[in-house]
Formats: sequence, C-alpha cells, structure tokens
Amino acid sequence: MQNLIHQLTNILGAKFILLEDQDKSPYLTDWRKRFTGKALAVALPKSSKEVAQIVKLCSEHQVAIVPQGGHTGFCGGATPDNSGNQIILNLKRMNQIIEIDSVNQSITLEAGCILQAAQEKAADHGFLFPLSLGAEGSCMIGGNLATNAGGTNVLRYGNARDLCLGLEVVTAQGEIWNGVKGLRKDNTGYDLRDLFIGSEGTLGIITAAVMKLYPLPISQWTTLVACESLSSTIHLLNLFQKRANSLLTGFEMMTSESLALNEKHFPHMANPIQGNPPFTVLIELSDHESEEHVRQLLETILEEAFTSHIISDAVIAKNLSQANTFWHMREHITLAQAEEGANLKHDITIPLSSLEAFIQETDLLMRSSFPGVRIINFGHLGDGNLHYNIAPPLDRDPRAFNENYEKQIHDLVYAQVERHKGSISAEHGIGQLKLAGLRAHKGEVAHDLMLAVKKALDPKNILNPHKVVSI
Ligand SMILES: Cc1cc2nc3c(=O)[nH]c(=O)nc-3n(C[C@H](O)[C@H](O)[C@H](O)COP(=O)(O)OP(=O)(O)OC[C@H]3O[C@@H](n4cnc5c(N)ncnc54)[C@H](O)[C@@H]3O)c2cc1C
Repeated sequence: MQNLIHQLTNILGAKFILLEDQDKSPYLTDWRKRFTGKALAVALPKSSKEVAQIVKLCSEHQVAIVPQGGHTGFCGGATPDNSGNQIILNLKRMNQIIEIDSVNQSITLEAGCILQAAQEKAADHGFLFPLSLGAEGSCMIGGNLATNAGGTNVLRYGNARDLCLGLEVVTAQGEIWNGVKGLRKDNTGYDLRDLFIGSEGTLGIITAAVMKLYPLPISQWTTLVACESLSSTIHLLNLFQKRANSLLTGFEMMTSESLALNEKHFPHMANPIQGNPPFTVLIELSDHESEEHVRQLLETILEEAFTSHIISDAVIAKNLSQANTFWHMREHITLAQAEEGANLKHDITIPLSSLEAFIQETDLLMRSSFPGVRIINFGHLGDGNLHYNIAPPLDRDPRAFNENYEKQIHDLVYAQVERHKGSISAEHGIGQLKLAGLRAHKGEVAHDLMLAVKKALDPKNILNPHKVVSI
C-alpha cells in the first residue's frame, strides 16, 4: 500500500492526497449520518487525466475506489466500507464550467461543478438549467448523473438522464471515453451514456457532461392550495395537466404531519394556509408568453377547482420572494426530519392511478402494526413519487426503535409497493442502503443482466464494490 500511496502522491502532489484521520474525516460519513466508513486515502484530482492515472494505479494494486461528489446522496453510495482499504475519489476540484453553447442550448461542465453554480451560470446567459433539488447548494453534476437525480422539475423537464446529451467517463481500466457531444439524436449502437447514468459509480467515473438548457421563462406563478383528500390532489393534478399542459412545472404534495414537523423545527416556515388542511399542494406554472397570460390561466384553473370542490383554499405568491418561501417550506421537510433524528425513508413511485389506494392501505397497515409511528409523507406528486417516511413514536428512542423495526417497516412498505406495481427507488438510487432488496424487486433476469454488465465493464470489481449490485 505504501507504494500505491507514494505513486498517488506523485500524480496529485501531497496536498491533494489526504492521509491523516482529521483530513479524511469529513469525507467518511454520509449526509444522513447513517453510514460511516474508513478510507486508505482521499484523492482530489484536478483533471480527467489525473482521474485516469489514479484508476489505472488502483486497478494494478487491486484497490477499490469510491467516487464521491457532494456526498449528499441518501443511499450511502459515496461512503466507503469499514475495511480502510478503499480510496475515496472526490471530484470537487474538477468544478469548471467549460462552455455555454447558446445556439445548441447546452452547457458543458466538469463533474465536480456544484449544481447551483451551473443553474446560476445558465441564468446569467438567459437560460434555465432545470435540474433542481434541495441539496443543489452542495451536490455536484457528476453525483446528479451517477444517481440519475430527480427533484422538483421532473414533471416538465425530466430527470438528470433526460437532461444529459453527452458524457466523459473514466473506465475501470483507466481509459477516458470521450462522449462529450451535444447531440439530441445519436443512434449509433448501444447507448453508453445511458449505461453510466444512474450507475452510482459502479461502472465508470463521470468526469464531464453536456447538459440541455432551456429558455428562461418570462413569468412564473406559484401557489399553495389546500385539499381535503388525496383523491382531490390527484384530480387537481389532472385538471392542471389538462388546462396548463406544459406550463405546469411543479406539483408537490405535503401532508399536515410533514408541515407540522417543519413548523416545529423551523417556526418561520409555517404554512400560510390556515386551518391545517390534510394536504397542501405547491403548484408552479411557468410561461414564455406574458405575466398576464399565466396569472389569468392560474386564476381560471383555481376558480374551476374551487367550484368543483377540489380545493378548499389557496394562497398565490405575491412576488418572487414569497414564491421562494413556498419552495423553501417544501424543501425544509427533509431538513426538519434530519433535525428530528433518525427516521426511515422510502423514496417510492406508484402509478398515479393506484396512489390513493396505496396510501390508504399502507397508512392503515402502518398504524395498526406500529402504533404511534408518525407518517411523514410528501413528495413530487406530479411524478407519482412519494417520500413515504416513517418517524418513530415520540416517546421512543429513534435509534433503538429503528434498530428493532427497520426491517419490518421496510418490508411492509415495499410489499405494498410491489402490490401496486411501483418502484422501491424513484430518484435516490440503490447505493448500499437498498442493495439487499434489488434482486427481489427487479427479478432474476433483470438482476442477472445488471451483474453481467458490471462484470463486463469492471471485471476486477474495483469501482464502488458492493453498491447497487454485489458480485
Ligand atoms: C436536502 C436534500 C434534498 C434532496 N433532494 C433530492 C431530490 O429532490 N431528488 C433527488 O433525486 N435527490 C435528492 N437528494 C439526494 C442527493 O442530493 C442526490 O442524490 C444527488 O444527486 C447526489 O449528488 P452528490 O454530488 O452529492 O453525489 P454523492 O452523494 O457524492 O454520490 C452519490 C452516488 O454517485 C456516485 N458518484 C458521485 N460522483 C460521481 C462521479 N463523478 N462519477 C461516478 N459516480 C459518482 C457515488 O459513488 C455515489 O454512489 C437530496 C439530498 C438532500 C441532502
């Protein structure tokens, strides 16, 4: 190992290969503090060439690499194991925005670029970079692509995969695949780009990407509405889809329990809708025509929803600052849960037509099997994506409760997901958290195909072993 460290130091310089415990420590625990590992070293390369050299060396020495971006992932994918023999390869120094191509409407950037920096750069040039999520101030483009991140704009613009035009990837053999092309059509055999997207660092290391840009909307209107039942929230979604079509850019659902937790930890995030409605929905319309056009459209749809008793109250944001407060309220639920302590997350998708039945049945089963648990249910309803999270009863120690009941609670939720033909991971990925459940969920054939891909691309199993699939 000393030889490897010596060679890595030669490539990166002593400053960018971290060996001391206090220097490595910030890279060893995931955002949720569920997983802590050990690492031989943390490598901080500055270029794809350096990444390729590191991978080649690690391959020769049979040392595993854990690629890491902002380390905000929810499934422990970027956290090393406990052996102390793995190298963390963090891409934060590769943070350059290489080009904005206004004609092609695309942005080319290095993998360590922070998502928010990409959004801001695009806006400076009059474009929208639509990927948007609560961790955007710290997650990185490489991590977003490696997890195929979703977020709040999927309804209109798709997830990270849909936004990606091209990639540069360092393979498990330390070669650089240059697929940095801004093409919207390219039918030349197997789609390597799509193979690496969502592979969570197990097939290659993403070092750069070309992503789609869109014209910035002229006007955006945001509203919070109250619904008395889940079926009303779904009727409301269908109504907005029908009337506003592609102008509908956000549709987020929050239950009263989720917002109560928010208010407990962030009192300034109180719901402006009075009366604690069972469901509050955040809706955003974006328009390229005029302020007047979108405002009128929003008011007409809300009026129709009132008249048909789909909604019972609504607050339209008066200005951008209030619109941002509405969005912060939605995004703070995850932070409120972190403040509250350990909880069990379920990032699931259910076909919209089965969503109501899923929630009714699962709530009932959950409350009768685990009396006192708090169901913190919120999510990207427009995508059928729920964050169906379970907090322990208030009088129980969260860690002890989770240790005792985690498996049973996950089993209950995932059995319901299967029953309703959903997915056990809508946008957070598999990592190490959901590794054990993947075979059963995907089925033998799909799982074996995934294993075959892993073995073909990384035969020495040095890229993020025991994440997603285990050889
Ligand atoms: C407050 C909060 C809100 C969030 N909201 C959302 C949301 O709405 N939607 C959503 O999808 N996610 C959400 N997340 C989860 C997380 O932010 C995303 O998964 C994000 O895409 C991870 O990016 P990262 O740079 O932090 O990746 P990391 O956590 O560092 O890594 C994630 C995985 O990708 C791999 N990886 C990282 N970089 C590379 C690379 N360059 N090449 C190859 N593999 C790599 C890692 O090995 C790991 O397996 C949220 C997280 C937080 C903390």
